[in-house]
Parts: sequence; C-alpha cells; structure tokens
Amino acid sequence: MKIKAQMAMVLNLDKCIGCHTCSIPCKNVWTNREGAEYIWFNNVETKPGIGYPKKWENQEVHKGGWALKDGELSLRAGGRVGKLLKIFHNPNLPPIDEYYEPWTYDYRKMIESPPRQHQPATRPRSLLTGKDMAVEWGPNWEDDLAGVCVTGAGDVNFSGLECQGYLNFQKVFMFYLPRICEHCLNPSCVASCPSGALYKREEDGIVLVDQERCRGWRYCVSGCPYKKVYFNWKSGRSEKCIFCYPRVEDGMPTLCAESCVGRIRYLGAVLYDADRIKAAASAPLDREVYAAHRSVLLDPHDPEVIGEALAGGISRNTLEAAQSSPVYKLAVEWKMAFPPHPEFRTLPMVWYVPPLSPLLPEAVDKEHEAGAADRLRIPLKYLANLLTAGDEGPVRLALERLLALRAYQRSVRVDRTPDMRPLEEAGLTPETAEEMVRLLAIGKYPNRYVIPTRKREAEGGLNLIQGGCGYASEE
Ligand code: SF4
Ligand code: SF4
Repeated sequence: MKIKAQMAMVLNLDKCIGCHTCSIPCKNVWTNREGAEYIWFNNVETKPGIGYPKKWENQEVHKGGWALKDGELSLRAGGRVGKLLKIFHNPNLPPIDEYYEPWTYDYRKMIESPPRQHQPATRPRSLLTGKDMAVEWGPNWEDDLAGVCVTGAGDVNFSGLECQGYLNFQKVFMFYLPRICEHCLNPSCVASCPSGALYKREEDGIVLVDQERCRGWRYCVSGCPYKKVYFNWKSGRSEKCIFCYPRVEDGMPTLCAESCVGRIRYLGAVLYDADRIKAAASAPLDREVYAAHRSVLLDPHDPEVIGEALAGGISRNTLEAAQSSPVYKLAVEWKMAFPPHPEFRTLPMVWYVPPLSPLLPEAVDKEHEAGAADRLRIPLKYLANLLTAGDEGPVRLALERLLALRAYQRSVRVDRTPDMRPLEEAGLTPETAEEMVRLLAIGKYPNRYVIPTRKREAEGGLNLIQGGCGYASEE
C-alpha cells in the first residue's frame, strides 16, 4: 500500500443555478491575458448539449483518455512512438472554432456616439484577427437549452435513449454541468506529453504544466478526454486549471468554490492507494471502473491507513483534514457523488451529485411510491451515461436518497410528524439523514471546505530562500 493525498471536489448538481459566477473570478484571475481569451478553466454547460469544445465527451471524435487494448491500458490516441512520428501534426486537436473564436466590441463607438435618432450599434470583432466576425459558437452557446433542438442529438449521453423524444419541447429536460480539470489519479494529459512537462504534485495531486518544459506539441490537449488543457497561442505553451494551488496551500478554497452562489461545491482531501491505480483504471468493463475507482480511496479512520499514511510522510494536518473531508463523506461513505465518464479511465477527482428533477406529468402523484427515481424528468439512463458508464444502479440509489431526504424533511418541517419510512427504504438512519441535510442543503463554509494548509516551516526550502537575500541575510 502506497498512500498519497489528493485534493478533490464534489459538485452538487441539484443546486447549481447556472449563474456562471464561478467562471468569472477564475477567468479574471487566471486567463485574463492575450493568448488565453478563449480559455475557460471553469465553464458551465447546459445538459443536454455538446458543450465546450463541441462534442468533448465523444472520444470517437477526440481520441482522448485511455482504452483497454487486449486487457492492457493504453492511450486511445496511441503511444509515444506514434506521437513522435506525428509530432509536427497532431491529428486529434480540436480547431479553435470548436471552442469558439473569442471576440470583443468597439465600445468607444457606443460611448462616443453623437446624439442620433437610432441607438448606436457595434459589430463583434475577433480577438484573434482584429476583423469583424459573425458569432457562431461560444463557451455557453447552449445556455438554458438554446439551440439544443439542433445540437442535442450530438450529445453522447443519449446513448440507449430515443433522443428526439427528449428534445421535443414538452418532454425536454435540463440541468447545468460546471466543469474544471479533474486532477485525475491516472491523468492521460501527463502520459501524453512527449516533453514530460505535465506533472501531478506529490503532496496534493494537483496536475500542473511546467511552462519551462512545455514545447507546445499539444498532445496534452488531445490526450485529455475532458478537454481541460488549452493551448495559449501567444506564449506557445499549454495551460490548464491549477486548482488555485496558491490559495489551497494557504487553506483557502479555489476561486470557483469560494464564489459559488449556489454553494454547490465541496473541497476536501482524500487518501488513496497509489499501488491500486493501474488495476482500477484497467477494470475489464467500463461500468466496473467507478466501483474500482471508489475502492482506491481509503478510509482515513482506519488505524492501518493512519499508520501507513504517517509512516509514508503524509502530514498530520492532511490526515486530520481527510478525516473530516466532505468529499470522502459524499463520494465514499454516502455514495452520493460520482466521477464523470469513468469509462475514460483517467480516474477523475472532481465528482458530481446527480440532480433531482420534477416527476414526469404522468407520475406526479407517485412521488412516495417505490421507483420514483425512474420517473423523474431527467432520464436515469442519461445520468448514468454521464456518471457511471451507463450503470443505473448507483445513480438510482443516490437519487432515491435525495428523494428520501426531501420527503423526510417535509414530514419533519411541514407535517410535524417525522416519517421514517422513506429513510428506511433508502437505507438511511435519522442521524445520517440529519448530517446529510446539514452538508447538502445548509453546509457552512468550514464544513464545505476542509483544506489542510501546507506546513512550509517544516519544508526548509522556502525558509532558506527567504533568508538567502534581503534583510535577513545581512544579520
Ligand atoms: Fe489531465 Fe485534468 Fe484532463 Fe485529467 S481532466 S486528463 S488531469 S487535464
Ligand atoms: Fe453553478 Fe455555483 Fe457556478 Fe453558479 S457559481 S454556475 S451555482 S457552480
């Protein structure tokens, strides 16, 4: 057993209101530069839809992530030799139009317009060419289902469903999907880089690009199945979400989490067994990867895990943070959160609680009957395709637990007569239900974000640098 720590996130999709507030501070702080105009480390998509870049989930098109070939895990886009042969032409890169051509407006025209009969107007101008352009796609083009009657059929999560039926006006459903880099345990971006520029940090698992080593081959861009590495055309280097590591090191949440209006995000440390990653990512069937991935995450209260972790150099404050991690509770203890597209086999570490939705019109009076999770407006199969490689069982359990919490809370708050039946059916005790409500519905800041600070004073290096110049060195 080789124990490592990972900073991870859970997003409760049941509460996302699609306000895009998370994207804005991220954009303003990290990608507000020339060359990065089209880059959104955090973006929010509306589902159903094909997203940003177009069809990022379809690996038949993008060839990202890992696949099993003869039982062996290998990069879908091919190995190192193949990449070296094609190093000057990576065939699997999404062109800029698939993300979107970034644009601005000549605001002076509006401000300095003399009095006139009609409102002044200004055309969109490309931030790449400086010329007037027609806007045809954007990072949230499908916001609130805009145009989904055209694009929706390209959404791979409709696999096994008659999508046209669900795209029809009276049957359509929607929810929001905020996305950042997954800081995977088995990152295909790292394995794809011919220059060795991407790396996973030893202490917290955050995946970064070394800007000095990056040569701009862009195999990380095509290798990432979530399309969360971007190419900066100005610097000629790749860039990606850095999980706000300068903030996280100081015990502060990421900007997307800090600013989240819906309070849907949870941050915490988890411990995992690095020796079992390959086996988990190589689970024979796609739908077995999620359970194998979850089993890699270790119980931080287990005395054997505690002993091994401390012996392996995990700091005591990281261990304590892992013991009160909301991520561990939601993902492992309560089985309420799931990794997106486990079939990509990168073992992503930003998980999602599936969203509830209204009951179908023909089932409105059957909310308290068994099987309500199968009668929700968002098809169970769709959520399972997104979160568990099509396995409906785990998603059904999570939805049933959410429904049970709602029914129980209603009996407590409205009827004033606690009804235990829904909890019993969902396998929950009143104590667990109370704890779940506290975290999922009204989670307070210190419960949602449990982040171990780095003990820099114990690391030596930074202190030496600090004392190596400036006033301290003159003493
Ligand atoms: Fe790498 Fe992030 Fe993509 Fe995972 S999601 S493969 S860590 S860029
Ligand atoms: Fe959703 Fe929160 Fe982002 Fe708003 S800020 S879109 S609620 S994740």
